[in-house]
Amino acid sequence: MFQVIKNEPTSFIKARKKVKLPKIKSAWEDKNISSIRQDLRKYILENEQDSLCVYCEKKITFDKRYSNIDHFKTRNIFPEKSLVYNNLLVSCNTYNRCSSVKDNKKQSIVKSKDDYLKIVDVVVENPDNCFDYLITGEIVAVNSKGQFTIDTFNLNDSSLIERRLFIFQSLKYFGNLSLAEIYTSFGYEYKSFIKSIYPKLKEL
Ligand SMILES: [Zn+2]
Repeated sequence: MFQVIKNEPTSFIKARKKVKLPKIKSAWEDKNISSIRQDLRKYILENEQDSLCVYCEKKITFDKRYSNIDHFKTRNIFPEKSLVYNNLLVSCNTYNRCSSVKDNKKQSIVKSKDDYLKIVDVVVENPDNCFDYLITGEIVAVNSKGQFTIDTFNLNDSSLIERRLFIFQSLKYFGNLSLAEIYTSFGYEYKSFIKSIYPKLKEL
């Protein structure tokens, strides 16, 4: 996870102002909003998230098969935040992790407003203070907030660990490059893992 700086686009400001009841759950389905949803996914992904899932950092496109606009604070519990721009983040659609786990009534460990205080909110705080990464590809919590967040989004899903491990093994051959050069060559996918693991690589 990485910190996100939000910058609400004019198109969304205009659209939400046309919605008669913006503080109810179904405001998100209003035609003024649904008609710009794809453009909004593209805008958020490309301008605010380096084209990455905000939770697992997998590279994704704005195609609705691969990504969705996630209400970080879910509309079921926070209907009043349905059209609050800072509550909108783009998540991957991967089965068994990220928004699909958080918002799954049976699977989710997030059940109440208070539970949201236990999760890292990347719009208001830097997640680097809550996590560390291991060269085995696992993300580990530095504090209880980090642990609850890992569990909420299933950030140690086996497919994710495998992917991070693969990147670590590839990075071994590029030990003399700077971090900026690594990002240029590899892209930003799993950028927090790379940032954390790259200095450790040099110590090996
Ligand atoms: Zn994800």
